[in-house]
Amino acid sequence: MSRWIMGGIVHETNTSSTLHTRLADFSRDDQLLTGHEAVEYHAQVRNPWGAFIHVGRKEGIEVRSSLTAMAAPSGLICKEDYRNLRQRLLDGISAHLPAHGILLWLHGAMVAQDFPDADGDLLQAIRALVGSNTPIIAVLDYHGNISDEMIDHSTALVGYNTYPHVDEYESGLEAARIMLLTNRRQVHPVQALAKPPIIAPGVFARSGDSPMQSMHRQIAQWKQDNKIINGSAFGGFPYADVYEAGLSLVIVTDNDRPLAHQLAGELCNYAWQQRQSFARRLPPPAEAVTKALAAPSPVLLADVADNPGAGASGDSAAILKALLERGVSKAAIGTICDQEAVFACHAQGIGKTIRLDIGGKTDPYHGPPLPVEGYIRLLSDGRYVGEGPMRKGRLARMGKTAVLEVGDISVLLTERRVQATDPQVFRSQGIEPLHQRVLVVKSTVHYRAAFEPLVQTIIEVHGPGLADPNLQNTTYKCLRRPIFPLDPI
Ligand SMILES: [Zn+2]
Repeated sequence: MSRWIMGGIVHETNTSSTLHTRLADFSRDDQLLTGHEAVEYHAQVRNPWGAFIHVGRKEGIEVRSSLTAMAAPSGLICKEDYRNLRQRLLDGISAHLPAHGILLWLHGAMVAQDFPDADGDLLQAIRALVGSNTPIIAVLDYHGNISDEMIDHSTALVGYNTYPHVDEYESGLEAARIMLLTNRRQVHPVQALAKPPIIAPGVFARSGDSPMQSMHRQIAQWKQDNKIINGSAFGGFPYADVYEAGLSLVIVTDNDRPLAHQLAGELCNYAWQQRQSFARRLPPPAEAVTKALAAPSPVLLADVADNPGAGASGDSAAILKALLERGVSKAAIGTICDQEAVFACHAQGIGKTIRLDIGGKTDPYHGPPLPVEGYIRLLSDGRYVGEGPMRKGRLARMGKTAVLEVGDISVLLTERRVQATDPQVFRSQGIEPLHQRVLVVKSTVHYRAAFEPLVQTIIEVHGPGLADPNLQNTTYKCLRRPIFPLDPI
């Protein structure tokens, strides 16, 4: 019987964040598993690991699991913790060898202290362990910053095609498909990487918008024409200050390396021609609120710079301040992460009025705390089951929450950092998004999967935060230069 070993460590690292990532961040919420437990758990989940298991079962292949670990986007991973996780992943693989293939789910923008290309480091270590004859195929996030090391030490890399990411599972199926063909010797995958000198904020590199959309369409066409096995256009993660940050184009062909290089190069040239699309101006909060008041409602204001999903603190109160200054009514903000404020509300109880400072407490990059007086309308444990395309049926935990009515604005305060990608973030807390004139979410692009059909207008806002859409405001020490739009090239 054939055997595959699966595993992986998934983390998107915002190197400017002061919230260092520890082992405990991976251990939370069933996110660190191994062996039978990992197989049983992921078989129930629509993620790449689940896809590996499902394809294996269908094809009569035994799927064993090494470590599967993930943590919410945050700062640098402490080096001892990274080494610990890496060792557990390697030991887990070692225990199940020999195998016909190694299937991994990684992010591609994971950074640990002393390991700027942690994904490349993992792939190198796994290749050294299993030898050159065992195929290693990895699914990577759309925001992976792909390096030569990742390419050199893997058989094929498969990126998601969508941002919002609604095809993580399908990317897993694709990786397993390539593994099957490789095992049966029907294909011999080789891959090439091309990197235009472009670094793009997520908000300008979504899959539903050109130029990324055009590149994905081109890749789909090449696949349909049987020219390539697979191709991925990675938007990259610009808030990881590493040499390889930025756009990456990967083409996998059947034993035709020159063709892989040629096609990756074609995409690279196209991206360069379209580079101005990756750097645009967004309105600051006051201007965005003025626009919102003139637009058909519900209006969604996307606080793109303070997206916890990109490692920001999720505690900027800048848009709330702008709404209060304009006396906006029927608005809801989901969410502002502020443990201190949430605990104060829980100590007071429902129905009480409270004065407190909201947000701006994590670091100096998300604006100052905002003093408010509010009415405590609802307190909860913050659990909800998702209904939108990204989290459907999955339990999510926001930690303790409080709905504070400030004027006619419902402010959802949370203990944990939350990217509002699902309407249940609001509905589970008694706030109906459709009844709002203005809805604020801290998210760059993922909110679109669920909220685009619900609202009339979307305005992307440039507030303060560690996912700043103007990359001139991000500090770079390690990034390859020159690069657009930071340098005059
Ligand atoms: Zn991503």
